[in-house]
Amino acid sequence: MARLPIYNCYHPVMKKKTEDVTEIDDSIKKLVEDMFETMYKADGIGLAANQVGISKSLLIVDTSISSEENYRHPPIVLINPEIEEESDEEVEMNEGCLSIPKFNDKVWRPDVIQVKYYDLNGNQQTLEAGNLLSRVIQHEIDHLDGILFFERLTSIRKTLAKSKLKKIEKGLTLPEYPMVLPDGTLTGSNK
Ligand SMILES: [Zn+2]
Repeated sequence: MARLPIYNCYHPVMKKKTEDVTEIDDSIKKLVEDMFETMYKADGIGLAANQVGISKSLLIVDTSISSEENYRHPPIVLINPEIEEESDEEVEMNEGCLSIPKFNDKVWRPDVIQVKYYDLNGNQQTLEAGNLLSRVIQHEIDHLDGILFFERLTSIRKTLAKSKLKKIEKGLTLPEYPMVLPDGTLTGSNK
């Protein structure tokens, strides 16, 4: 396994819609292993492939560290995920993102979703998700569509976030883990 640098949210790869995975070969399996190592070393609970610079429709989630029992879910890989249904009821939850260092804010999203995806064996699966699992999957699917969570903030929150986001865009706010900045510069050591 190898740890990969995480791409800053203002890097062009993060704004581009990812391509569907057409074959689950060894390169995809290796990518998934590397993504798990990268996510765990950065203390994340979800990661989309374009966050490590690979523009493919694939994400990983692990909410097993959640202190609340019904928020917990063991590690899961979702390939070409699609939300089939979502609840009318929306809930507000605090979100952070490994591509947006040292920034978090509250976002409204549907509470429960039903998502269709392929697993690593190429089998189609359907999952109903609520709570934190639903939240992380929605956040990561947004990444695959080139959408960042701060785009979903209410307009007042967007205004308040502006200066913090500007610093992140300029590479003045850095995470503890290696990051590829918007201009392609790599920061931090890959230990
Ligand atoms: Zn994110």
